[in-house]
Amino acid sequence: MTGTDPDAGSARERSQGLARSLFRVALPRWRGGRYSLSKLFFNFYLLAMGSFVAIAFTADLVISTAQRGITDDYARRFMRGTITLIEDELFRHPRSSWEKKIQTIDEKFSYKLGIVERITLDRKLTPSQVDKLDAGDIAIDHDGDIMYHRLGTSSLVLVVGPLAASRNPEQTDRLPLELRLRLLTWSLIGVIFGIALWFWIRPVWRDLEALRQTARDLGDGDFEARSPAARSQLIAPLSDTMNSMAERVQQLMATHRELSCGISHELRTPIARMRFALEMLTETDDPAERERLWGMMEADLDELDHLIDTSLTYARFEREAPEPHFSSVRFADWLADEVESVRLLGRDLELAVDTSQLPENLAVDLDRKAMPYALRNLLRNAFKYAARQIRVSAELDGERILIHVDDDGIGIPPEEREHVFSAFTRLDRSRDRSTGGYGLGLAIARRVLELHGGSATADAAPLGGARFTLAWQARQ
Ligand code: ATP
Ligand code: MG
Repeated sequence: MTGTDPDAGSARERSQGLARSLFRVALPRWRGGRYSLSKLFFNFYLLAMGSFVAIAFTADLVISTAQRGITDDYARRFMRGTITLIEDELFRHPRSSWEKKIQTIDEKFSYKLGIVERITLDRKLTPSQVDKLDAGDIAIDHDGDIMYHRLGTSSLVLVVGPLAASRNPEQTDRLPLELRLRLLTWSLIGVIFGIALWFWIRPVWRDLEALRQTARDLGDGDFEARSPAARSQLIAPLSDTMNSMAERVQQLMATHRELSCGISHELRTPIARMRFALEMLTETDDPAERERLWGMMEADLDELDHLIDTSLTYARFEREAPEPHFSSVRFADWLADEVESVRLLGRDLELAVDTSQLPENLAVDLDRKAMPYALRNLLRNAFKYAARQIRVSAELDGERILIHVDDDGIGIPPEEREHVFSAFTRLDRSRDRSTGGYGLGLAIARRVLELHGGSATADAAPLGGARFTLAWQARQ
């Protein structure tokens, strides 16, 4: 393992710096706007309550205008008898005493009675009401509260009302009852709406705060940060998206780190050996020795080449998570061909392919480009570790297709069977040290199988060595 590399520090800082600047692009809006819960609440409250009041008043106005004609007519009919009786009483007396008489009658009524000159009403009444008055009908002022009726053919007019106003002098300077009721109703509506809004907005705000904190932590390079489960339905999808984004960023950063640490570590040995060989070259004139050193350097260059190749392959599967392109293959033939293509590498070994357990002409879906990477890595390992025999077999387990690669080598201890799939992991046995490699082959195989929605696992082989199994859904 290579986790303690001194280069790891700077690689880590670089990758965190990159992520930090990525997050910062999205953050200033959050950081700058000091938006508090109370501010959000009041803005929202004013907006909603304001629109509500405006709507209610408009509706009230429209309805009362539409109703005015009806209520005026109703009031006219209701008061006609009373007015006629009052006038009959007046007509029984001479005109000069009408003023006095109306005052005596007025005391018996709960609303005001009076007499005015017709001429004074031109400005108080609308033209249509003036016409009504002149035609001998009852005229009503625009509040629907005072009634006027001409006294016979005289220039005097009987005034009845205001009907709604109280005669109690203590109450006249106070707010009218209707207005007080309205104020009370609106205050109650305002308070209830405020409470409801508060209880609705508080969880939303808390979720937003949690999101903001998470975004800030991520921006500061803490890739472990996750947003807690959202209380409000409104924010839940946002917080889920944020968390999966954080997950992905963390994974990318981990791969980036792992790769850069691993590669820089692996580069050291061949480079150090090449430097040593170069120094030796300058010091020797022996052609045989020079030849040997050239050979050494060439082998190191090959090793570097291989390292870069494998790392790029791993990075591609790990970092880019390419979309799988499935195609259906005749599985037994495909497997035999793939094994054949690498058979030369294990010349001295017995290599058998067994597809007898499979149904005839079985077709399986796989990514023709990616799957060979997985299989070849298993075979290459088997070539390195097998003593004499390698056996490749396949079976169908329900809907899943399984490929086993077995060998008769030293095997893998049970406690290491998961660990060997991590990138840059190599077991440290004398056999492992003599075979060379970077510990990337199995990591690549696992990524390829993840791409297929399947798995790559290690076990003990019936032959005595290691068994590696690739499994995925035969129909995608
Ligand atoms: P690379 O594949 O990058 O060239 P590698 O073969 O060492 O290097 P992996 O293929 O990932 O890397 O294997 C990881 C480790 O698992 C090996 O170093 C070895 O210790 C162990 N291993 C893999 N295959 C076998 C096997 N068939 N038998 C015993 N041990 C194995
Ligand atoms: Mg390998």
